[in-house]
Amino acid sequence: MKCLLCGRQMQESSLSDLIFGNDLLCRKCRGEWQRRDIAFLLDGVPLNSFYVYNAAFSACLIQYKECGDEALKDVFLSQVKNRLRRRYRGFTLLMMPSTQKKTEARGFSHLKSMFECLGLPCMEPFEKTEDISQKALGRSARQEMITAIRLKKDIQLPEKIILCDDTVTTGATLKGALKCLDQKKHTIRICTVSYNARWITENRPSGIHCLFMRQQV
Ligand SMILES: [Zn+2]
Repeated sequence: MKCLLCGRQMQESSLSDLIFGNDLLCRKCRGEWQRRDIAFLLDGVPLNSFYVYNAAFSACLIQYKECGDEALKDVFLSQVKNRLRRRYRGFTLLMMPSTQKKTEARGFSHLKSMFECLGLPCMEPFEKTEDISQKALGRSARQEMITAIRLKKDIQLPEKIILCDDTVTTGATLKGALKCLDQKKHTIRICTVSYNARWITENRPSGIHCLFMRQQV
């Protein structure tokens, strides 16, 4: 089998294959990703995430979602999917929105494809009204972003739901989605594949409470 990222032929039956199952990336490519599971509360809602958003992760995500390399869809959750299937049994996955323009340009729904390996029901109930790069946003613009997400018309949501995204940068998108939901009516979780390293620094922004951090072997 060839590595989906670099195309190198992979050795079969390595020790890591025995432990983690067959990976879709070679050891070198996977080794450049920084696995570090974290869990914290975002506006009071438990969030789980697995990889630090570093240069290697970012490059793979861009290759997948901006260059349309759809074959990469399963590399993001392959190492955690079995655990997530058990943890989130009975929940429905809600994908964070891209703008209509971006989804059309990609030709596929990148988050839905990424999370479908969990085998859970999946919905795309939100829509994004504007497209702003979060990195360029100041505090007030991020606030605006929070109001730039809304539920599509006539959407009925199940009781147990998980907000899903590829990465949590500032948290503004997810907070925007949370604002659209009645937290008394739903059991809500958040799951992102990666996160900005600032979420694990000592100077965490206010409102963030780190429950635990675990270095993955
Ligand atoms: Zn590789």
